[in-house]
Amino acid sequence: MSLYSGSLVGVMEKKTQQPEDRHSDSLDAKDAILKYCLSKGALVAGVADLDAINRIAPAGHRPADIMPKVKSVISVGVGGQTQGAWTVPAKALAYFGSTETRAYGIAYGCAFFIENRYGERSVYCPPDLDNEKGPRVPLQSVKLHAELAGLGARSLAGDILLHPEFGYMYFASIFTELELEPDPTMPENPCPHPSCVDMYRKIGETPCMKFCPAQCLSGKIDEAGNQAEMRYEMSKCAELAEQYEAVPKMISKSIDAETSQARDDVLYDLDATMLWYKMSVGSGGLLAQCFECMRVCPIATRAPMADPIRRRDARQAAKEQA
Ligand code: SF4
Ligand code: SF4
Repeated sequence: MSLYSGSLVGVMEKKTQQPEDRHSDSLDAKDAILKYCLSKGALVAGVADLDAINRIAPAGHRPADIMPKVKSVISVGVGGQTQGAWTVPAKALAYFGSTETRAYGIAYGCAFFIENRYGERSVYCPPDLDNEKGPRVPLQSVKLHAELAGLGARSLAGDILLHPEFGYMYFASIFTELELEPDPTMPENPCPHPSCVDMYRKIGETPCMKFCPAQCLSGKIDEAGNQAEMRYEMSKCAELAEQYEAVPKMISKSIDAETSQARDDVLYDLDATMLWYKMSVGSGGLLAQCFECMRVCPIATRAPMADPIRRRDARQAAKEQA
């Protein structure tokens, strides 16, 4: 029997299917797809409402701009740092980069899984930057997809998504022509945490605002303890934490140098040589955030399943209860 006979049967069956059968097949497919993502290491997975994405994302950055016949957007989230990572000094933490490549691997595999099993076109959504708009504009917002799939809510730390159980995660998306039922968004935003509200009442800042080394976060919390305003000065954060423009700046300075000594000073100073090092090893520290806003965030670091140790403890507690 051909490996593809399953999907050929599926296509033939579709012609005679009743609407209720299609709905039930779609629910089964969604269940199998999300289970696939979880089995490959995602902590959470869901389907975003495509109409909502189209209402919020600007023209040129909607899923159909990448895949014209897209019917569903699936989002997956993987865990952030280990618990140990939060104990190391900032200069070491910056090298750890982030875990998003694990999410990308799962999304890539998921697109193959859908095509293989359901015979519907699917793609791993590129999380990369729009080459017509420069290094600060993504092709698609995988954060928006994750938020609308109910995998996280926007925090006071520059809109980083937080989850009440898993804390801080990294996300990736899959676009498919298979129609899947969307999930609801998260019913409540876990940010600000009650301890952050207390701190705000006392000093007018939450931990992420107070300890951001670039002082790029500010905002307001209302009487009920909810977010009232969030301000994020991306350029300050980017200057500290992302170095896309550092290389051309350095090259330009060295070209302008008037003496060979001045040129050497530009090319071999401590920051420049560290940058060459990061590039040569492909360090995530070149492009990643500085992590300090998350290091002090009670949800990112202390949510019940925020790191492998907490997840292990939760598994053991569940076993003992069973
Ligand atoms: S990544 Fe660093 S600079 Fe950027 S908001 Fe967080 S703490 Fe501030
Ligand atoms: S520290 Fe975390 S929970 Fe507290 S306000 Fe900032 S992002 Fe929200």
